[in-house]
Amino acid sequence: MSYSATTVTLNSAFPRNSKPKAKDSQNRRETISLIQKCKHIHQIPPIHAKIIRNFEDQDPFVVFELLRLCSNLNSIDYATKIFQQIQTPNVYLYTALIDGFVSSGFYLDAIRVYCRMVNGFVSPDNYAVTSVLKACGFGLALEEGRGVHAQVLKLGLSSNRSVRMKLLDLYGKSGEFECARRVFDEMPDRDVVASTVMISSYADYGLIDEAIGVFNRARSKDTVCWTAMIDGLVRNGEMNRALEAFREMQRDNVRPNEVTVVCVLSACSYLGALELGRWVHSYIDKYDIEFNYIVGGALINMYSRCGDIDEALAVFGKMKERDVSSYNSMIEGLAMHGKSMEAIQMFQTMIKQGLRPNSITFVKVLNACSHGGLLGLGFQIFHSMTNIHGIQPQIEHYGCMVDLLGRSGQLEEAYNFIARMKMAPDHIMLGALLSACKIHGNLELGERVSEILVNCGNADSGTYVLLSNVYASSGRWKEAAQVRAEMKEGGTPKEPGCSLIEVNNEIHKFLLGDLRHPKREEIYKKLTELIHELKSEGYLPATEAVLHDIEDTQKELALSIHSERLAICYGLIATKQGTTLRIVNNLRVCSDCHSMIKLIAKITNRKIVVRDRNRFHHFESGVCSCADYW
Ligand SMILES: [Zn+2]
Ligand SMILES: [Zn+2]
Repeated sequence: MSYSATTVTLNSAFPRNSKPKAKDSQNRRETISLIQKCKHIHQIPPIHAKIIRNFEDQDPFVVFELLRLCSNLNSIDYATKIFQQIQTPNVYLYTALIDGFVSSGFYLDAIRVYCRMVNGFVSPDNYAVTSVLKACGFGLALEEGRGVHAQVLKLGLSSNRSVRMKLLDLYGKSGEFECARRVFDEMPDRDVVASTVMISSYADYGLIDEAIGVFNRARSKDTVCWTAMIDGLVRNGEMNRALEAFREMQRDNVRPNEVTVVCVLSACSYLGALELGRWVHSYIDKYDIEFNYIVGGALINMYSRCGDIDEALAVFGKMKERDVSSYNSMIEGLAMHGKSMEAIQMFQTMIKQGLRPNSITFVKVLNACSHGGLLGLGFQIFHSMTNIHGIQPQIEHYGCMVDLLGRSGQLEEAYNFIARMKMAPDHIMLGALLSACKIHGNLELGERVSEILVNCGNADSGTYVLLSNVYASSGRWKEAAQVRAEMKEGGTPKEPGCSLIEVNNEIHKFLLGDLRHPKREEIYKKLTELIHELKSEGYLPATEAVLHDIEDTQKELALSIHSERLAICYGLIATKQGTTLRIVNNLRVCSDCHSMIKLIAKITNRKIVVRDRNRFHHFESGVCSCADYW
């Protein structure tokens, strides 16, 4: 996000001391008005020719307008040609050319023009300096920027606000926080726009506490400033703090705009905060916040990631116009909820509507095929990428196909598919195959795949966990333990399991065997009761899902405290009978929890929706929407 605080109006910057004769002045006005009426690039050369015929080609006022016209019409080459014919360009003409290069994206050329100006003993003013600093900021030309800063100090321009803002922007973007801080601290009154630039820059570099520090000290925070803070928190994974900031913004009576609501909705999506997400939706309606593609897409993502796919479809239906990304969001949502056929129909509708699917669309739709085990259809769509849509498959698309083959139990075929690929496989793809080897109990291939992963140094903690699971599920405890030991040595700790549940607009977080929740005693009591009841329903804790070779009773103990179980027990205690429980899990649900949750849904008569790393599970009356295929 960039915050442009100033608009440089060069017209007003002209000296008023030159007094042209009345007739000249009349001609000049006519020429300038002719230039200003110009709408097309082809009109420039004839006008330029006329200017030369009228001997106006050295008139700075006329040439200035002409240069501006060229850069507005994206004709920087012609502007350069005109500029080269000026005998003694003044600072305004230099600035017009620098501006032209900046708006065409040629930042280094802009800096070069500035240097030529300074070397030609034309003294830069506020406007020239602001323009070249803009170029330095966009082009991340830190050293050149420092040079300009030195000139700024020498020329006494450092009190100018636009100049300071651009310096701040440059240092902030480059992560030069000591310099940025110095410029910022010299600005009077804790300027809110400057504070916003500082907040965004700190957040870009992950320095979230520094960003909060600036935010807390900023005076009269406006929507843009609040939004920068919320956006920074979201981008740094501080979702709860982002939502807290949003609530504070409400208390401060600052109205959010569409950027703010998109940030907040993405935090809700991440946390599974459906109630807050709904509230934001009603807020959008109530306060007429522009319902554009981006807001619509954010709402679809929020509803589908918070487990309410019907509401996501309703938002999609209400959108007046839909672009490719709206369809992509909807296809992804349907796929995550196991509605593979609907996702594919959505894809076909999109094509019928004349929209061109992009590379991301194919990742989503192939994922849908994979979740639904739709092997034939998956390959048909995969081949259509090159044959019909002219899109070259990337590693992600190949990954979807490997996943699809693996889930369908075609393990050797998946292995050969990888071998035939024109590119090297990545660890995600090999991890998917490894996981399929585990599910289908193919230890031999599992070992081959892990070896490739470990040998090319591509094994992350997930790979080691999977490999040790492959061993553990076939009873080879010694190997499983060895892999875990290697994992510790290699410094790849297992990602801790974590579950979230929203109760009364508040997100409660549980870790494996968590004992920190204020209601922990009731939660564990509920869990003990449940396990007792479940056993009379025929529930037998599976032993394959634990890694260590420990006594069976201990295994049962370790299993019983997976974080999703704690979250569900808390949900059962804290909500009214019949309320749907929605859990967000950071890892894939293990098979033991999966069968346990099915039974919990049955005996408590609740709907339980669990989002894990890959997809949604809707548990109801003893069955899951994934049909035990995940
Ligand atoms: Zn589990
Ligand atoms: Zn399931």
